[in-house]
Amino acid sequence: MSRKLGYTIVVLLLIVAGVSIGVNIVNSQTTPVTTTEMSRFLMDTLVDIRAVGIDSELAAENAFAEMERIEQKFSRHLPESEIAKINSAAGDWVTVSKESLDLISTAIKYGEISSGAFDITLGGVIDLWGFTTPNKQVPAPEVITKALESVNYAAIEVDYKQSQIRIPTTTILDLGGIAKGYAIDRGAAVLREHGIKHAMVYAGGDIVLIGNKQDGSQWRVGLQHPRESDLVAVVPVTDRSIVTSGDYQRYFMQDDVRYHHILDPQTGFPATGLASVTIVARSAVDADSLSTAVFVLGIEKGLALVESLEHVEAVLITADGSIYVSSGLQESFQEL
Ligand code: AMP
Ligand code: MG
Repeated sequence: MSRKLGYTIVVLLLIVAGVSIGVNIVNSQTTPVTTTEMSRFLMDTLVDIRAVGIDSELAAENAFAEMERIEQKFSRHLPESEIAKINSAAGDWVTVSKESLDLISTAIKYGEISSGAFDITLGGVIDLWGFTTPNKQVPAPEVITKALESVNYAAIEVDYKQSQIRIPTTTILDLGGIAKGYAIDRGAAVLREHGIKHAMVYAGGDIVLIGNKQDGSQWRVGLQHPRESDLVAVVPVTDRSIVTSGDYQRYFMQDDVRYHHILDPQTGFPATGLASVTIVARSAVDADSLSTAVFVLGIEKGLALVESLEHVEAVLITADGSIYVSSGLQESFQEL
C-alpha cells in the first residue's frame, strides 16, 4: 500500500528538527547530565553527535573513535583497510576480521533480498564514473559492459571457519552503500554503552536516533525539498535509524542530464525513476543498504520489498515530484 502525494519535488535532504542543546541539568545525586554536541569530518562527510547524559562528552569522543576505526577498516581508498587488502589480493583468499566477514555477509544478504539491485562488487564500474574524483565522466558503453562482467555479489566467497574472503580476480569491492550505516550504528552503540538515553548520530543522509528527545517527545525528522530549502514532510521516530539515498548527494550534470552515484548493477548507469529514498529501520546498516537497494529497484519493486520486511518503512520521492509512503508510516507521516 502506498500513498501518493502531489508534490513537485526532485531532491530530498534530511534535517533533524527540535534538538535541544546546551542543557545542564543536575539530578538527585548532583551528577551533572550534560548535552554534548560534536562534529568531525569522517567518511567523506561531516558527522555530528548530539548526546544527553552523564559523561556525554566522553561518550561522544569514544563514539567518534569507534567510527574512525570503522572507516579505517572499510574504506577501500585506505590501503591498510581490510577491504583494500581483499581488493588488492583479488583471486586469493584473504584473512580478515570477523567484523568484516559479518558486514560483507550482511551486504551479500541485501544483494539477495534485492535481487541484485544492491551489489557491493560494483567497485570497478563506480571507478569508471569517477564520482569521488575531479574527473567525473560518462564512460563509453562498451567499457561499462566490460566492467559489468566483474560485478556479481554472489561470486564473493566467505569462509567463516578460516575467517577468509575471496573475490574473483577482476572484482573490486565497494562498501559505500552500507559502511556509513554500519559506522553510525557502532557510534550509537558506544553512546549506549555509556548509558546515553537520548542522542542523535548524523552522517550526511544517515541518522541514528537513540530513544526520544530529552523532554520525552519523539524525534521529528524533516524531509527537505530536494533542490530547494523547504521542508516538505516530517517523520516522527523513536529509537530508529533513518537513512536517505538521493540523486543529489553525489552527481554531475552533462548535456542537462544528471549523472549520480547510485548505479543500477544491470546497466552500470545511474538508476532512474526516483530522486530520493528514505528508509526507517531498526539499524542504520539495514536502512543504508535498503535505501540504496530501493532507489535502484524503483517505486513498485522497491515498495514491495519494503512492505515484505518487518520494522522497515520508506518514503520515496520520484523525479516527477510525487511522494510514496509505505503502509507503516501512513499514520505518523506529516505532510507540511
Ligand atoms: P548510498 O548513498 O547509501 O545510496 O550509497 C551510494 C554509494 O554506494 C555509492 O557512492 C557507491 O559507492 C555505492 N553504490 C552505488 N550503487 C550501488 C549499488 N547498486 N549497490 C551497492 N552499492 C552501490
Ligand atoms: Mg546506502
